[in-house]
Amino acid sequence: MHLAFIGSRSQAGLQAPAVTVEIHLSSGLPSFHVVGLAESASREIRSRVRSAIVSSHLKWPDFNITVNLAPCEQAKQGTRYDLPIALGLLVASNQLPSSAIEKREFLGELGLDGSIRPSRGALSATLAATLDAHSMCVASTGAEDLACVPDSTVIAAPDLLSMCAILRADQPARVAPAPSSPPAAQFPDLSSIRGQPLLVRTLELAAAGGHHLLMTGPPGVGKTLAASTVPGLLPPLPPETQQQLWLLQDLTGDERLSTPPFRSPHHSSSIAALIGGTAKALPGEISMAHGGVLFLDELTEFPRAVLNQLRQPIEEGRICVSRAEHQHWYPAQFQLIAAMNPCPCGLAGSEDAQCRCTPDTIRRYRQGVSGPLMDRIDLHVTLNKPSTADLFSQPAAHDTSHGVRDRVRTARARQLDRQGCLNRDLSGDQAVALCQMTSQTREWLVNALERLGVSPRSTHRRLRVARTVADIEGVQCVTKDHLAHALALRETPPGGGAVKSF
Ligand SMILES: [Zn+2]
Repeated sequence: MHLAFIGSRSQAGLQAPAVTVEIHLSSGLPSFHVVGLAESASREIRSRVRSAIVSSHLKWPDFNITVNLAPCEQAKQGTRYDLPIALGLLVASNQLPSSAIEKREFLGELGLDGSIRPSRGALSATLAATLDAHSMCVASTGAEDLACVPDSTVIAAPDLLSMCAILRADQPARVAPAPSSPPAAQFPDLSSIRGQPLLVRTLELAAAGGHHLLMTGPPGVGKTLAASTVPGLLPPLPPETQQQLWLLQDLTGDERLSTPPFRSPHHSSSIAALIGGTAKALPGEISMAHGGVLFLDELTEFPRAVLNQLRQPIEEGRICVSRAEHQHWYPAQFQLIAAMNPCPCGLAGSEDAQCRCTPDTIRRYRQGVSGPLMDRIDLHVTLNKPSTADLFSQPAAHDTSHGVRDRVRTARARQLDRQGCLNRDLSGDQAVALCQMTSQTREWLVNALERLGVSPRSTHRRLRVARTVADIEGVQCVTKDHLAHALALRETPPGGGAVKSF
């Protein structure tokens, strides 16, 4: 036989479309060519595959070798096809029976010594192969994690020669799933925030309703610490979200974690790093925060163009990444937690020292963040430095992450039971309907809103927050107390100067 067809998988976002590696050996001058690839790229593959075959004491077929990756439009990315090409050559040159590759798919890079190295994106390939009732043959490294895919058959070997031996067996040994679940990331406890009861309560609200949060306060007030406690307050990820996150982590080579992620990109990050892109259209930070928290410190320092890009994923929970010929959708359902100083010097509203910024400078500083993004942030909280005595105070027993997590879990379950989504995602009309206010409460609210000069759009945000306050208490109807709490939480930062769209 001088022809072999061997199954593999390409990568398109989180999908892994099937690819058939076709090998044809014909007489003529010995050569090696991959259809659709430039001569230099073909030579690279040939060098690796040839060295691996020769180092494994197998015979390199001295034929005119043509390799085709079908369908042709599949991006021919990376080194993942080394293993299927090598095995295809062995089958085509009768060194391996064709039964060895039936109903099996192959993925892996080859070292010059014949060793098999894992490929990124092997998890989505294993999921897709399992759906097609095929087994997946990969490198030994990381194979245990792939074997955790339900109903999968994963066959693994450390090198090409061992893989050939395994494939010749009637029933090759399958890899056992990893014995323990992936590690859980550790987050600081809520009790480490001292002397800031309002902040602690707001963090609980943000976690319970999934609300986006903006903290404004002078440097050193503990904004980063506060943000990093939030993933520790969230309930375990739903299975579907967890799987999407593992696929993303597998694709980017990040460590697999079983807890909601916490991502804090620097303000100097490029749009591609934050939103997704690069030459290979890989997911960005907002997708890596899927199901968890995206923390943007120094919000005003982020370029406006970057912040504007956040609007679509915040609304749709996903992002389309397109670069050159690649276009992929990635999930990006994150909770935005942002922090900023009240003014360029950070001292506006502070009692310790005098702010020297002019009202004009402060206004320009705050307008660095676009209004439409601010509109999507339900909770705004202004922080002041706690007193020195507060730093030594004992936290209240009910304000530990453990205690709050239980309340958050119950409140979230209540929302999902009632409306199928978190309060963050309620439309204006839904928020009004679900608050179930009495006519007396409604009248009080209208008066309060008129007195405060609150815009209709801002009213809906406050209603969503009030609904969450009531859900934490387990109350069906939103009362004056809940509304008062929500109204108090969205305030203009200190330092004066009404800010557009706050
Ligand atoms: Zn200032």
